[in-house]
Amino acid sequence: MKKFHEFEYKRPEYESVKASINTFIQEFKTATSVTRQIECVNGINAVRRDFESMSSICSIRYDMNTADAFYEAENDYFDEYEPLIQELVNQYYAVLVDSPFRNELEAAFGHHIFNLATNEMKCFSPEIIEDLQQENALVTMHTKLISSAAILFDGEERNLAQLRAYFQSKDRSVRKAAYEAYASFFSDHEAEFDNIYDRLVKLRTKMAKTLGFDSFVEMGYIRLNRTDYNAQMVAGYRKQVLEEVVPLALKLLEKQCKRLGLEALTYYDEPLRFKTGNPQPKGTPEEIVKNGMKMYSELSRETKEFFTFMEENGLFDLLSRKGKMGGGYCTFIPIEKSPFIFANFNGTSDDIDVLTHEAGHAFQVYCSRNYAIPEYVWPTLEACEIHSMSMEFFTYPWMELFFQEDVLKHRFAHLSEALLFLPYGVSVDEFQHEVYENPEASPDERKKIWRNIERKYMPMRNYADNDFYEKGTMWMRQSHIFETPFYYIDYTLAQVCAFQFYNRMEQNREKAWEDYKNLCNAGGSKPFLDLLKIAGIKNPFESGSVKESVLEIFKQVEAIDDSDF
Ligand code: ZN
Repeated sequence: MKKFHEFEYKRPEYESVKASINTFIQEFKTATSVTRQIECVNGINAVRRDFESMSSICSIRYDMNTADAFYEAENDYFDEYEPLIQELVNQYYAVLVDSPFRNELEAAFGHHIFNLATNEMKCFSPEIIEDLQQENALVTMHTKLISSAAILFDGEERNLAQLRAYFQSKDRSVRKAAYEAYASFFSDHEAEFDNIYDRLVKLRTKMAKTLGFDSFVEMGYIRLNRTDYNAQMVAGYRKQVLEEVVPLALKLLEKQCKRLGLEALTYYDEPLRFKTGNPQPKGTPEEIVKNGMKMYSELSRETKEFFTFMEENGLFDLLSRKGKMGGGYCTFIPIEKSPFIFANFNGTSDDIDVLTHEAGHAFQVYCSRNYAIPEYVWPTLEACEIHSMSMEFFTYPWMELFFQEDVLKHRFAHLSEALLFLPYGVSVDEFQHEVYENPEASPDERKKIWRNIERKYMPMRNYADNDFYEKGTMWMRQSHIFETPFYYIDYTLAQVCAFQFYNRMEQNREKAWEDYKNLCNAGGSKPFLDLLKIAGIKNPFESGSVKESVLEIFKQVEAIDDSDF
């Protein structure tokens, strides 16, 4: 097995990709047997796997060093050609769903690929290729802007991720200064952020209209491959969060304010949960990774095999450094059947989340690595986050390895932050609905929309003397809003589902783990609500389900004595 740095990168030339796929499509059309059609599908998928693998390797290597001119240029190449590959895939989908051997193909590949193919065809047409290329270019412009941040703070130039570590400082003036430095990056570039977003909103709306949609909302849902729920169901779900979670969040924040001994909790106090400081992981990054190995070795036979594979093949890049792209993610390199975890360790409990959350994603994709249909390797994004967020809970028994005497403090913080996240998460979602339903709104009007939504879901939010945030700009830090519209609600849906796993593992850990593994093994072979059935998880859109999931968690938080924290 090769290690990541030995993976070979070779640009997949569009003309040859196109020739191969077209040959298979022609053969598929004239095939007189299902066996031949299956061979053609496999042939097309092999070409796609190669393209996607090169795109992944390129993007990881670029993210590892955004100053690398070679991978920067290659990245631009993918921005330009991915929509053209999508066009070829759509041509394949069109013949696939039209096959006279449809029943036999469904027997071989499952029904869901036909759902996905039909969906994909609705949100693509050659007429929008140029727009898609422009969208890619704007998204790249946004990521470049974010990673260009080099803010002088505490004696050194820091990127946004590094600066965020100071948000949890025990020293109130440091927290405030860090937030102000952070805000200054956004206010210095406010016009650029506004401009990129405005162009993205208008461009996406234009594409939606070209394809015959009323607005981008429906297209956005289809692009995320949501085949079994819609914007109306999501609105009902946000209402559940407003009614059931917001009051709990208020109680948690009031308690936090008291714990911190403050008269009023301002925005820059929110990240500091405890007067004695947030629980910090102990040990060097190397020790943390070593403990991760111990944790996954003990958790189950499958996680041991998985983590050993990651470790032995260099499939991590965890440390933060200048010039490296911010954030953290897990991705997959199909031809190597390898997940990859990218992170920016900053000495906070976020580092442990990488080992639990991102490793949860990686574990799922590792479980699904052998699907012949590339569409089945990952499920839709809300299901993906169930794997990661539930892994954060399944690893609770090992948190002492990382937090030692602060283990209970960690549990308190982790559970309450998960609850506090829900109102923020649905705010990001409601904002995007309003934005795309009113694409002609001006940047200033968008800021007002954001601030009003914050007041609704986060009534405690107090921007004190920060006029920049007060006018409604906090959303600008949320990259998903720019890069993947309507994605963000997925984290909240998954959080509610992961709460159910937590509640169930408290009762019967073995059964909960079996169901979790079944969910991971199912990959993306089924739509969201069907995956929930496999996992024995209740549908969060059903009225009452949010309440049921969060109440038990809130009780658990309340049961922990925080008077010493
Ligand atoms: Zn995730």
